[in-house]
Amino acid sequence: MRLEGKVALVTGAARGIGQAVAILFGREGAKVVVTDVLEDEGQATVEIIRSQGREAFFFVLDVRVAAHWQGAVEATMTTYSKLDILVNNAGIGNRTTLEETDEALWDQMMETDVKSIFLGTKTVIPIMKKVGGGSIVNISSIYGLIGSPTSFAFHTAKGAVRLLSKAAAIQLAKDKIRVNSVHPGYTLTHGTQNFFSIPSVMAERLAKIPMGRFGTSEEIAYGVLYLASDESSFVTGSELVLDGGQTAQ
Ligand code: NAD
Repeated sequence: MRLEGKVALVTGAARGIGQAVAILFGREGAKVVVTDVLEDEGQATVEIIRSQGREAFFFVLDVRVAAHWQGAVEATMTTYSKLDILVNNAGIGNRTTLEETDEALWDQMMETDVKSIFLGTKTVIPIMKKVGGGSIVNISSIYGLIGSPTSFAFHTAKGAVRLLSKAAAIQLAKDKIRVNSVHPGYTLTHGTQNFFSIPSVMAERLAKIPMGRFGTSEEIAYGVLYLASDESSFVTGSELVLDGGQTAQ
């Protein structure tokens, strides 16, 4: 019960890492606001949490839309009267090179993976201040730490998430709001499993990971849990890498 008494809002919680985070948070005692653009899958996540005897509800939140953020936070306050934890997980990937990236794709990446976190963080600050603090965990990527031959806009977006988190951490420390980033390596999820299953892709990717395997959503969720909980009460502006050793070389 590492999150007993806490209320947490998780974005992109219908699938993949976000779903694993929402389920783990529920198991650890948090009341969970499950948000996503996918209603049926989001509701299914809520049912899993409720089947563990825990509380959760679903809210349609497209992280690119400021009004959705306002609605989600208002619904959270109406239902649970506070918000302690925000996990900015929702994101999209993209593998095009710089030369293949057009303006529309660039804007789409920045809106979904970066502007979303700015909007979410800004919306929850007044609420977290009112309850005396909070923890914001932003899901970046190892691609926010290093470059590669592909994924130009994705690298740019995830790098921005890393420094957005550090700047926010410094500016919100006085309000007891902690902000940290999480950097998953290659992780098997709904979003990646088809691509990572292509034999040539699998071989190329696994060769880069000293542990010789992909990560799981649950392994990433445990890192998020630490940063969300009071166990990390002196940790802010830091980056937690969960990548099987890939970026250590
Ligand atoms: P996924 O595709 O399996 O799930 C992403 C979820 O986000 C989906 O439920 C989707 O509906 C939701 N989503 C997408 N756009 C949204 C929007 N505009 N508003 C609200 N919800 C939206 O993805 P995943 O692999 O679980 O990735 C989750 C996060 O982890 C992303 O930020 C991703 O960049 C990051 N990440 C993943 C990996 C990996 O290998 N899987 C590695 C590094 C970082």
